[in-house]
Amino acid sequence: MENLRNVRNIGISAHIDSGKTTLTERMLYYTGRTHVIKEVKGEGAVMDHMELEKERGITITSAATTVQWQDKKVNIIDTPGHVDFTVEVERSLRVLDGAVLVLCAVAGVQSQSITVDRQMKRYAVPRIAFINKMDRTGANPVNVIQQLESKLGLTAIPLQLPIGAESNFAGIIDLIERKAIYFDGDNGEDIRLEPIPADMVDAADRARQGMLEALSMVSDEVMELLLEEAEVSTDLIHKTIREGTIAQQICPVMVGSAYRNKGVQPLLDAVNRYLPSPLDREVFAKDNNNGMAEVPLASDPDAPLVAMAFKLVEESFGQVTYMRIYQGTLKKGTFYFNSRQKKRARISRILRVHADQKEDIDAAGAGDIVAVMGVECATGDTYCEEGANLSLESIYAAEPVIDLS
Ligand code: GDP
Repeated sequence: MENLRNVRNIGISAHIDSGKTTLTERMLYYTGRTHVIKEVKGEGAVMDHMELEKERGITITSAATTVQWQDKKVNIIDTPGHVDFTVEVERSLRVLDGAVLVLCAVAGVQSQSITVDRQMKRYAVPRIAFINKMDRTGANPVNVIQQLESKLGLTAIPLQLPIGAESNFAGIIDLIERKAIYFDGDNGEDIRLEPIPADMVDAADRARQGMLEALSMVSDEVMELLLEEAEVSTDLIHKTIREGTIAQQICPVMVGSAYRNKGVQPLLDAVNRYLPSPLDREVFAKDNNNGMAEVPLASDPDAPLVAMAFKLVEESFGQVTYMRIYQGTLKKGTFYFNSRQKKRARISRILRVHADQKEDIDAAGAGDIVAVMGVECATGDTYCEEGANLSLESIYAAEPVIDLS
């Protein structure tokens, strides 16, 4: 069974038009690049437009898409950018372990950014902010960072400095690794690493110091090293950012231009490094057989199954139910008990949906998100072992809805 440490269940949320769709497509593109890159007359790689079109369709219709980035399996879950708290939005949000909040470098924090951020806070979903459209005239990341603090109350910690501005936006300075990353080529997909350019060394040093001082607020270890004027190791910086992000004490900020393929790969690295795995989150179910007592769920694959249907979708290959497995292992051909309908159902097929294919699998373990065929249910329904009678839906439904006005 899968090592859960290597699983990420993430959502990408944004105010409309900030580039959520473009960014999602680029993520699919980079994670599946062996399928979609072709060489053109020795001039480097370009994107195959047919493939891009195919991916576009998949991005829009799939409630969850599984991609592989380095050693991590990343489930990208479609999070509707609704203005209000609909039950549908809530169900999508509660299956996330982390999220990327996409912002426009010109427009900054907009009304829906505020809404989705409140929703994320309500479900305690840690976030990374991605300031997109750095190539646009009027791009002002400093302004957006201030708005993250003033409008969303986040402790925003920039991990990068942009190199060049607007149409000359060429790359980023990675403040942790202390190097410049340029995104070259027509599609911006050729990554070139260089030392920090001489005219930016001072600014990079100041920005790195600012980043470390901000991190010292959430880590005594970093604080002590700064007081001693000692070197803070890269490993300690990554660890501090990860822990601070998961605890929602900080929000790392990255910059880029999804449209120009700039900054997407560092963002994928950050998803792997800083967003939580299913093991980092505690989930409880209510036991309907025992006075609705709270039962902590274990990620152990041998524990009794508990899974929630969070989305029903008509896909090109038929009607499917997307489920998140919270405990145990979901097995094909097995009967499970739907605790709302009070009846059993047999899982006839389990599918993993990738950007360019769907894969039939026999079983999926805790922490995973899969598409299931053969069950008729409603979103929010919990499936558990026969004999058990657990439900996940009631946990959040009992909470008061936050006033958005
Ligand atoms: P969504 O509504 O958040 O899903 O946004 P889309 O991905 O549909 O993007 C909205 C518009 O912004 C489209 O016309 C995109 O081509 C454009 N766009 C997306 N990313 C960038 C970017 O990095 N730079 C620029 N200049 N335009 C972008």
